[in-house]
Amino acid sequence: MVSGERSALVIGAGIGGLAAAVGLRRVGWSVSVLERAPIIAEVGAGLTLWPNAVKALAALGLDVAERSVPTTSRGNILTPRGRWVRRKHPDDVGVLAIHRADLHDVLRTALPESALHTDAEVTAVSTDGTLTCSGEELRADLVIAADGVNSVARRTLWSRDAVFQHRTVWRGVTPPGSVWPVQESLTMGRGVQFGVLPLPEERVYWFLTANEPKPNTLYADDRAEALRRVGGWHHPIPELIAATPEDQVLHNDMLDIDPLPAFVKDHVVLLGDAAHAMTPDLGQGACQALEDAVVLAATADNLDRYDQERRARVLPMMAAARAGVVRNSDTSRAKHLGLLAAARLLPPTAWRKATAQWADWEAPEPA
Ligand SMILES: Cc1cc2nc3c(=O)[nH]c(=O)nc-3n(C[C@H](O)[C@H](O)[C@H](O)COP(=O)(O)OP(=O)(O)OC[C@H]3O[C@@H](n4cnc5c(N)ncnc54)[C@H](O)[C@@H]3O)c2cc1C
Repeated sequence: MVSGERSALVIGAGIGGLAAAVGLRRVGWSVSVLERAPIIAEVGAGLTLWPNAVKALAALGLDVAERSVPTTSRGNILTPRGRWVRRKHPDDVGVLAIHRADLHDVLRTALPESALHTDAEVTAVSTDGTLTCSGEELRADLVIAADGVNSVARRTLWSRDAVFQHRTVWRGVTPPGSVWPVQESLTMGRGVQFGVLPLPEERVYWFLTANEPKPNTLYADDRAEALRRVGGWHHPIPELIAATPEDQVLHNDMLDIDPLPAFVKDHVVLLGDAAHAMTPDLGQGACQALEDAVVLAATADNLDRYDQERRARVLPMMAAARAGVVRNSDTSRAKHLGLLAAARLLPPTAWRKATAQWADWEAPEPA
């Protein structure tokens, strides 16, 4: 560290932690990222980046245009039998579909290797800026807890655990060219949804969301379970699942957290899912982690501003995501028909407002 440089320890090398490190380095901080995993990598699934996330990446000096596909989210809506409910419209907000590993790689390669530490598990954090990492005590001007939905910093300093939302999700990415071409789509069953997003290199990201009464329910074969649930749905849903290697189908419970009264405690800042984990119903979790990183870099000398700006932005979104869980998990015929009717009948501007209201955002001026 150069004398006089301010120092930050970032817990977690997910999308949020890496973005925070990139942002702080751009404004002159010395940053070390501590990742408990033996390698710095992301899981094999996709993401949608809304325009706010693309602006956040630009503010970090990054561009993912070459590694993503322009598409729409919730533009094309179908029923499980393949009946069209809604077709995408030029007024729909465009998003970028990207493989998580590609976004992660763009962020990781913007950092020097010397800033990244693996096998570095943080077990304790204090508000004075000290932490315990793999048995060693470390100190910095700022600790950024970007350690995800089960954040050790949040659980210990804020006493707040993750909340199971009685929903579960299977995800996969097909091998290049195996099921191609496909159109982006969201297929809406009763309490069950299936999303399709084309990725670069003729790969396809798919997800299946469903109700789950008990947390941590395991299935012997996740691909078989996904096929059991939606194998009779329209083309290309069964083909996408069947083409995904069995050991690459991911299965997770949907967790979020209750809104926090603060994202900052003295020298500790929460960022990304550690601060505001949401269910994926809005597709904004990673987008918000990127926004956090940009705002943190602009406000690192005035953390009250970070706290106020970020909570004002994400707390309504967390409430909207929970309303989305209620809506998407409802299995009643009447509610389901109501959702399909809204998708069919809402004029494009109203649909845009309903599906993309969080996409508007401007990056703050650099400090
Ligand atoms: C099914 C699904 C679909 C989604 N789709 C979208 C989407 O389309 N668009 C979108 O914007 N968002 C989406 N999200 C949300 C998005 O994935 C998350 O919001 C985002 O990945 C959070 O990033 P993060 O860096 O905050 O946390 P994580 O990605 O959880 O990263 C945390 C990191 O911290 C490390 N870590 C944890 N504890 C410790 C410790 N004690 N010591 C050291 N390291 C530690 C972990 O190993 C990990 O690398 C989706 C989420 C799900 C589940």
